[in-house]
Amino acid sequence: MSNPIHLSRDDEGVVTLTLDLPGSANVMNAAYRDAMGATVERLRAQVEDITGVVITSAKQTFFAGGDLNTLIQVDQAHAAEFRRELDVVKGQLRALETLGRPVVAAVNGSALGGGLELALACHHRVCLDDPSIRLGFPEVTLGLLPGAGGIARTVRMFGVQRALPLLSEGRQLRPEQALKAGWVDELAHDRDELVAKARAWVLADPQPLQPWDRPGHRVPDLKPFDPESYPLLAAAPAVVRQKTHGCYPAVERILAAAVEGALLDFETALAVESEYMTELTTGQTAKNMIGTFWFQLNEIKAGRSRPQGPEARPVRRVAVLGAGMMGAGIAEVSAQAGIDVVLKDVDEAAARRGVEAVAARLDRRVAKGRLTAAKRDALLARITPTGSDADLAGCDLVVEAVFEDRDLKLRVLGTAEKEVLPDAVIASNTSTLPITGLAGAVPEPERFIGLHFFSPVDRMPLVEIITGSRTAPETLARAFDYVLQIRKTPIVVNDSRGFYTSRTFGTYLTEGIALLGEGVHPALVENVARKAGMAVGPLAVCDEVTLTLPLRIRAQTMTDLGDAAPAGLGAGPAYEVLLAMTGELGRTGKAGGAGFYEYPADGAKYLWPGLVQRWTKGDGLGVPEQDVRDRLLYIQALETVRILEEGVLTSVADANVGSVLGIGFAPWTGGTLQFVNATGLDRFVARADELADAYGERFRPTPGLRAKAAAGERF
Ligand code: NAD
Repeated sequence: MSNPIHLSRDDEGVVTLTLDLPGSANVMNAAYRDAMGATVERLRAQVEDITGVVITSAKQTFFAGGDLNTLIQVDQAHAAEFRRELDVVKGQLRALETLGRPVVAAVNGSALGGGLELALACHHRVCLDDPSIRLGFPEVTLGLLPGAGGIARTVRMFGVQRALPLLSEGRQLRPEQALKAGWVDELAHDRDELVAKARAWVLADPQPLQPWDRPGHRVPDLKPFDPESYPLLAAAPAVVRQKTHGCYPAVERILAAAVEGALLDFETALAVESEYMTELTTGQTAKNMIGTFWFQLNEIKAGRSRPQGPEARPVRRVAVLGAGMMGAGIAEVSAQAGIDVVLKDVDEAAARRGVEAVAARLDRRVAKGRLTAAKRDALLARITPTGSDADLAGCDLVVEAVFEDRDLKLRVLGTAEKEVLPDAVIASNTSTLPITGLAGAVPEPERFIGLHFFSPVDRMPLVEIITGSRTAPETLARAFDYVLQIRKTPIVVNDSRGFYTSRTFGTYLTEGIALLGEGVHPALVENVARKAGMAVGPLAVCDEVTLTLPLRIRAQTMTDLGDAAPAGLGAGPAYEVLLAMTGELGRTGKAGGAGFYEYPADGAKYLWPGLVQRWTKGDGLGVPEQDVRDRLLYIQALETVRILEEGVLTSVADANVGSVLGIGFAPWTGGTLQFVNATGLDRFVARADELADAYGERFRPTPGLRAKAAAGERF
């Protein structure tokens, strides 16, 4: 078989290597190692006839990085083999940069992870100036580190301080940003210029030496025995720990590899990096994150939950009913995707306030240089505020976001439906009301669906799509496509009270408040939640959504279900805390100015000391920290299992991705069901039984989960 790294040599001795590995992108797999090994040998044998080397790719991207199919499978038993293979890759890159001839990367497309590492092993980088191209190290978002020399080289190029954010924050830079950062040396406007500039650099007879191979090279900002370096070295681990709460070993190892590597010679620095890369690759956190944020997320985006029949039909004109917090956000993300929006509220002035809220957000982005004034103006011009149903004519999608009041929703949906296109999709953004009931507002419930957005809409990446009992596949397909069109991630669930995300999130809030009511110190509840990796503590979140919301949902559920309401609803320590807070204590949450936290006008919020006086028993440590942590995580995982068994959720991918992107379930776990997998179903069941014995039947595993554990299965 011919080498998938094509080698051609021109009259002036410039060799061009064009990477064209099997598959849609070049990745660092066995085929790459073999091809690069053979290529390096050939270059070495012919070095006398070579003026220099240009590396480019035949794919749309330059190089996609590590092969995640392989990485997710590397376990402890294969750690040594993995390390050897990694060292082979690094040895090849080292051979290129020490060939004795100038080597330049002609970066024709995105270079992420391993792709950027290949480019950094070159002496010079020219990049195509195409705004769709990205350069960066996304490894950390999958629990890994740049392990093919990326840390050692970036630290030597920029110094520890400038390198760390580039290595540990997963940032992906556009070509002009990469030029500014120093990863790229030159930009080219088209492919011809790219190759011409790369060749010209080679022919200018530069010294084919990396900065770190020149005598006397030092890491720019690190003088190990200089007192000026001490504060950085001493403070960095604490700063990292504060950010990660110890949940993300990758961030800690990146820091360690950067600092330790900076104090060592280059070859040893590469070896240290390999050591940490091997540890992370074989560790559980990377498995969780790769599985969910790569494989399952891609599965979702590829349309696994979208009915296959209906053709894609982009939304052109959307009617958003209600210009409040959610409606304005939905209008903004739709307009951003090029969709015309009619934003309707009780009157035009109210609708205009929604547009003003969008304008204020866009203005902030313009001020920060993230958006041009022209793009802001174009986006705002796509949103038409109105108070009249007649303006909804021609809309092919309706998204209702008025107050959470069933009768009001039925009314506005009914009148809007009469004005829009006869086959328009009609959706509600309700967070709690069953979709099948709301579908009665329109003559054809087949066209009705739930589109549950999250707040703040412009930043939250998830939309939960809810199919009612009569929603047609065509409607689901069009709703699914719309969510992708506005560049969000869709999960699809069947109708039920609270759907998936609100129901699971509700258990987290209730458990946190119950812990407070049982006498646990509120600071312990909040800190343990954050240490477990939750985005926000349960008491802080409850303040955001208001303390009256869980009470209203409870009341609504009891009215709707009557005797069929779950036993215990409207009782227990959480309920008592909420009643006291919203009643006699008059603290309804952040919007009301006081909740579990105090909100001083001139400073940061802090937990209200009255909570301790009223509820904390003794020192507030009555429930062991491990139990607090497990209660907060297990309650959500167990609820997810129930929701899956009830058929509300229909895929593990939707459960995992939805839990992290929608309700901030700890990302290191890979989501609620992956948390169960990684714990081990046997261990999870045993621990849940312990929690049930100690704290209540809500922790009792379902028979289905027990059976799955007994059969040695996983989600
Ligand atoms: P909001 O109070 O900010 O906005 C509601 C808007 O509806 C107001 O502007 C109001 O004037 C308007 N409205 C009232 N009657 C109307 C009518 N007859 N015609 C047109 N507009 C009318 O509320 P919100 O937070 O944006 O929530 C809206 C919906 O989204 C609710 O169903 C809520 O449950 C749901 N939701 C909210 C969140 C959240 O975090 N806030 C998250 C997901 C879903």
